[in-house]
Amino acid sequence: MKRFVIVGAGPAGMRAAEQLVAVGQRPVVVDEGTRHGGQIYRQPPAVLQRERRDLYGFETARASAVLDRFEALCPQIDYRPETLAWQVEANTLQVLHAGRNRTLPFDALILAPGATDRVLPFAGWTLPGVYTLGAAQVALKYQGCLIGPRIIFAGTGPLLYLVAGQYASHGGRVAAVLDTAPASAKWLAAPRLLARPAVAAKGAYFVARLRMMGVALHGGVTLVKAEGSERVTALTWRAGPAVNTTECDAIGFGHGLRSETQLADLAGCTFEFSELEQAWSPTRDAAGRSSVRGVYLAGDGASVLGADAAELSGARAALAALEDLGLTPAEPQRAAQIEHDLLAHARFRRGLETAFAPPLRWAAEAPDELIVCRCEEVTAGELRACVRETGTREMNRLKALTRIGMGRCQGRMCAPAASRLLAQAVGCELRDVGRLRGQAPIKPIPIAMLHDHAPSTVVPEDQDD
Ligand SMILES: Cc1cc2nc3c(=O)[nH]c(=O)nc-3n(C[C@H](O)[C@H](O)[C@H](O)COP(=O)(O)OP(=O)(O)OC[C@H]3O[C@@H](n4cnc5c(N)ncnc54)[C@H](O)[C@@H]3O)c2cc1C
Repeated sequence: MKRFVIVGAGPAGMRAAEQLVAVGQRPVVVDEGTRHGGQIYRQPPAVLQRERRDLYGFETARASAVLDRFEALCPQIDYRPETLAWQVEANTLQVLHAGRNRTLPFDALILAPGATDRVLPFAGWTLPGVYTLGAAQVALKYQGCLIGPRIIFAGTGPLLYLVAGQYASHGGRVAAVLDTAPASAKWLAAPRLLARPAVAAKGAYFVARLRMMGVALHGGVTLVKAEGSERVTALTWRAGPAVNTTECDAIGFGHGLRSETQLADLAGCTFEFSELEQAWSPTRDAAGRSSVRGVYLAGDGASVLGADAAELSGARAALAALEDLGLTPAEPQRAAQIEHDLLAHARFRRGLETAFAPPLRWAAEAPDELIVCRCEEVTAGELRACVRETGTREMNRLKALTRIGMGRCQGRMCAPAASRLLAQAVGCELRDVGRLRGQAPIKPIPIAMLHDHAPSTVVPEDQDD
């Protein structure tokens, strides 16, 4: 039996596991969440009984199919929830569970860690009551609560309208939906969005429904400032020359998603600049093979293509791993079909990037006093001064000189904004400033555990608790 380890029990990881089980393998699946499902099919804690229709809306049938199939699979896999993967070393994965470290050796590692919000901050975004769109949805799906009674959703991306609609349906008063991308961009994107007509129709439905509910929708806006002293009380925004202030108790904002790539980085994968992601992404072939033998990339963690594509790429990566280890003969027809299907998802994503492009002038307009890195409280002005005074042109140098990205989030939150500011200050393309190198631990772990961590402590599965 070969040792397969999968990081992530979202659509990509679950489908990869299913593919491996189908040929008699018993993969280890680690996920830091308490229950399987990933972001889109996130499940509340077992004590919080919720109807699936209430949680997943249009996606209920799909969610049920995916979640139930994984549950049925569990006796045949080694599923480890509440387990954080925090380091990859020579063919081993370091994971944290219940305060203890485990070393998981692997012959094949399938990384399916998903994505998080791409955050381009605006003044006042660190006030209590301001959340990312993703966090607002997590509050609703996982904790069954709203981030506030009267909420503004702002930024851009499909999640903007989806989360606003979910809040409106669950008793939230949506004070406004403020899209930084202009309405005209949606029309420009239409030909590509039609690569997945059913999904495009769902998007149009969400917008129409919000309108019917009387929610104010504005396109082409600039987010100026979250107002308030103790917590957010209003959002000031611009539409053309007109400046508006809308009262609220909470804001959910974001500008699309960014892939979680730190584990691929620690595994030594080669990165290249992706025009689609507007970020440096680990290279992979059409099957999901990274540049490192035995390491495979799937789902939104490889490229943000959505849940259906995540399932496809998870299955494809598992097929590639099986083939590479000589466990099954290649399945050229199935593999080619999956790769072909994924092309439509990539085309659709290009449409989304046109429809919901992040604000082009964000870096030029960011005020000097804007906090960009909230862990280390580094402002836009400090970053600009660093470029002026030191001639810095590269992200890791900027980090060393300003501490940006050195805090708890390790740049997961601030790097998209900081790299745009650096490129703007230098006067170069985004690709030319490089990317923050991943460092272990990729997320906070207890210091005592680092002390205990010895790469040789391999805990066999049957002795593990
Ligand atoms: C907050 C958020 C909300 C979203 N909501 C929707 C939605 O409502 N509808 C929609 O169509 N799309 C939504 N998306 C996009 C959608 O989630 C994805 O397209 C889809 O879930 C991708 O599947 P995946 O398997 O690649 O990743 P995910 O579903 O994100 O699953 C990744 C899993 O990996 C785990 N993980 C990550 N890092 C580690 C680590 N270091 N150690 C252990 N486990 C780890 C996570 O806990 C997660 O369970 C959302 C995305 C985000 C970020």
